[in-house]
Amino acid sequence: MRKAPVTTLNNGVEMPLLGFGVYQMDDPAECEAAVAEALRVGYRLIDTAAAYENEHAVGRAIAQSGIPRDEIFVTTKLWVQDAGYDATKAAFQRSIDRLQLDYLDLYLIHQPYSDVHGSWRAMEDLYYAEKIRAIGISNFQPDRVMDIMSFNRITPAVNQIETHPFHQRVEEEKFLIENGVQMQSWGPFAEGRNNLFSNITLKEIAEARDRTVAQVVLKWLLQRNIVAIPKSVRPGRIAENFASFGFDLSDEEMATIATIDTGESAFIDHRDPEAVKGIAAWKFDT
Ligand code: NAP
Repeated sequence: MRKAPVTTLNNGVEMPLLGFGVYQMDDPAECEAAVAEALRVGYRLIDTAAAYENEHAVGRAIAQSGIPRDEIFVTTKLWVQDAGYDATKAAFQRSIDRLQLDYLDLYLIHQPYSDVHGSWRAMEDLYYAEKIRAIGISNFQPDRVMDIMSFNRITPAVNQIETHPFHQRVEEEKFLIENGVQMQSWGPFAEGRNNLFSNITLKEIAEARDRTVAQVVLKWLLQRNIVAIPKSVRPGRIAENFASFGFDLSDEEMATIATIDTGESAFIDHRDPEAVKGIAAWKFDT
């Protein structure tokens, strides 16, 4: 079976560059079936979050796959309602219990709000206790990344941020590389917004290479050494998305894709007070 290429994190841990995201898979049976299919096809990175409320289903699919634990890279995320030192430790334990795991590969602070420093110190201690192989952050802009780096012991291994052809974040990519933080894309297809799958520029490149738009987008991310975690519940697309390595985009094609950057989020401005308010209000039973 083909394996996705890997990237090496700042602590030496290897992470697949192409994985599987499970946001908005609310039906447990659908989620379990999709993760089982992804593992069958060859994905070895699964990206979930406590806030997706599907860690149980992900855990069942992993347990039933029969794949050795050390061959699967599992990420989950800490939600804002569990911010702070003690709450983070308790939330971590609940997450790995739901996932039926005794350690996690990557634990991310999901949003850059509330007591992120207290959470980070708990995550550092869990890392030193070998309960987590790498710790990171998500949705942190460069000043917030530097804040975490400046007042703590461990530099985040990963920053997972919205990245797709309409929001390419080239300056942030440079900043993260300079500081040894692996960039990871969420929403590689912008969830189809701005008609991504019928974008003319992307379609022309895809047609010329006998690939699909989805494969071109994922390869464009992999070629920038950005980890991508596309989501799909459909077996055909799960396989299509995984077949996005094994070909190269030319410098000219990469430069052409650079021209469709809008420089703006297709979803959310994390500095907008209304966005902060909305995220703070998002609560779920743990
Ligand atoms: P996405 O992967 O950009 O897009 C998913 C959408 O594209 C779904 O509607 C899916 O529909 C469709 N799709 C997938 N493959 C396709 C293909 N080959 N052709 C046509 N349509 C296709 O969106 P996302 O799920 O928001 O992002 C990916 C992952 O990033 C998430 O699942 C989650 O793990 C992570 N994420 C993290 C954050 C964060 O704050 N850290 C935020 C959002 C997402 P079907 O399912 O019907 O195929």
